[in-house]
Amino acid sequence: MEAMTAEGRVLLAAPRGYCAGVDRAVVTVEKALDRYGPPVYVRKQIVHNLHVVQTLEKRGAIFVEELEEVPEGALVVFSAHGVSPMVHAEAAERGLRTIDATCPLVTKVHNEARRFAKEDLDIVLIGHEGHEEVEGTSGEAPEHIQLVQSPDDVADVAVRDPSRVVWLSQTTLSVDETYETVNRLRERFPDLMSPPSDDICYATQNRQVAIKEVAAQSELVLVVGSANSSNSVRLVEVALEAGATAAYRVDNASEIDEAWLEGVTTVGLTSGASVPEELVSGVVHWLAERGFPTVDEHRTTEESLIFSLPRELRKDLKGQTDG
Ligand code: SF4
Repeated sequence: MEAMTAEGRVLLAAPRGYCAGVDRAVVTVEKALDRYGPPVYVRKQIVHNLHVVQTLEKRGAIFVEELEEVPEGALVVFSAHGVSPMVHAEAAERGLRTIDATCPLVTKVHNEARRFAKEDLDIVLIGHEGHEEVEGTSGEAPEHIQLVQSPDDVADVAVRDPSRVVWLSQTTLSVDETYETVNRLRERFPDLMSPPSDDICYATQNRQVAIKEVAAQSELVLVVGSANSSNSVRLVEVALEAGATAAYRVDNASEIDEAWLEGVTTVGLTSGASVPEELVSGVVHWLAERGFPTVDEHRTTEESLIFSLPRELRKDLKGQTDG
């Protein structure tokens, strides 16, 4: 392999990693385990990160795909990606105790979907089919919502009244691609209405802005994140569009191929919104041992948002303190 000693540097994007919604969801499961003891059931992965899920499993969380796997009367946490009203109804029917860890920024999109459906608008939801967040949002107004996955899908959109169409989106999409889709929609429906504020969340946007600047200065970009993490996968795409010669997503350092480093002097590094910083540190360490000892952080903005824990959990935690 080509010698890179002392030449190589790592350009670390910031912001990266945990967002406020992921932090809240993970802490929710941790506190539920502390407060009620194991097992605590969690519908779907609490956040899309393998390491986080495995760590919580060791502490007594049991991850299930559907509520039918949860015993009657047990406690179940709904993941950060949100659930459709049908899931809430099923939980109530089965007498399950629930804690809803849906990110408030996903709840915002659910509320918009309900409101626009009430106004009887046709809603075009930009997102990825099968993603849990899309299933949850669509479930708020199935008769009014149709899914569009890419700009090319716009030609197939059929609406009742072209002057009464609004768009919404999944929170973790590529900003640029989403606006391309919106522009195509507007070409077809000039009166297209927009959500009152961005559905693509602050964390997704901030991580994309940061990696764009980092990628423009890097031959190789590594994105730490799991394969089912939408915002992590988008970061790879954004890095390539921004000029990185190569970009790969890895769950952790063990998945990096040394051959990727050949001829590289700057490695751009970031992580998705569901990724604990220790996994990034593992990659930094791995790179340091292979001729990339210098780490420069490139920060594009500060983040300070914090969400309070779900109300149902806060109430019990307060009771515990008071008691
Ligand atoms: S990525 Fe955005 S929407 Fe998803 S949990 Fe984080 S803050 Fe919430």
